[in-house]
Amino acid sequence: MHLLYGDKDKNIDLNHEMSKIFSAKPCFIINDITAAGYRYLNTEMETFCILTISSGVGGKIFYRGEALLDKEGMAGEVGHIYYRGKYNQLICDCGEYGHIGSMASGRGIEQLARCIIDQEEIKNTYFSSVLLQEQELTTYTIVKAIKEKDPLALFILGEAVKPIVDIINTLIFTIVPLYNFLKNKITYKALSGV
Ligand SMILES: [Zn+2]
Repeated sequence: MHLLYGDKDKNIDLNHEMSKIFSAKPCFIINDITAAGYRYLNTEMETFCILTISSGVGGKIFYRGEALLDKEGMAGEVGHIYYRGKYNQLICDCGEYGHIGSMASGRGIEQLARCIIDQEEIKNTYFSSVLLQEQELTTYTIVKAIKEKDPLALFILGEAVKPIVDIINTLIFTIVPLYNFLKNKITYKALSGV
């Protein structure tokens, strides 16, 4: 198993440690996207899906004011869904190959860009791209090139967006009809930051 952070054998009572530091306020440990959902829940709506595209790709569904989670807090990890396609050799932060996060997140688009640029026909097609002159491909250089409307950068962005579009479509065509059946309204709001 691939561990992202730390030694899984050590248990730390983080809630207790935080409560000591912030003694005047109650402390809760919660998944970042669930927390982001509660921020919108308070001000905008009760039933919705929240997607985040940052270092990874995350999501949560809120239904009637509650995050839909299992008893261990799991749900909505759309970035770790396997995405079929020509970039499925890219490795995800979790250690598996071809997950949406491996190509459509902030870190993922860097891998995707390297993979695309390694193709000889791409070099021939986009020979004037500023990205081909870069020593190092990062989200910053990619975003800069996108803002300059560099054709290769726009092609890479388009490839990175496809898995996100597909996951939004999946949510709309599966969950929305279910909620409509239940005579409730669902609204989705996607936050993107690639
Ligand atoms: Zn993954």
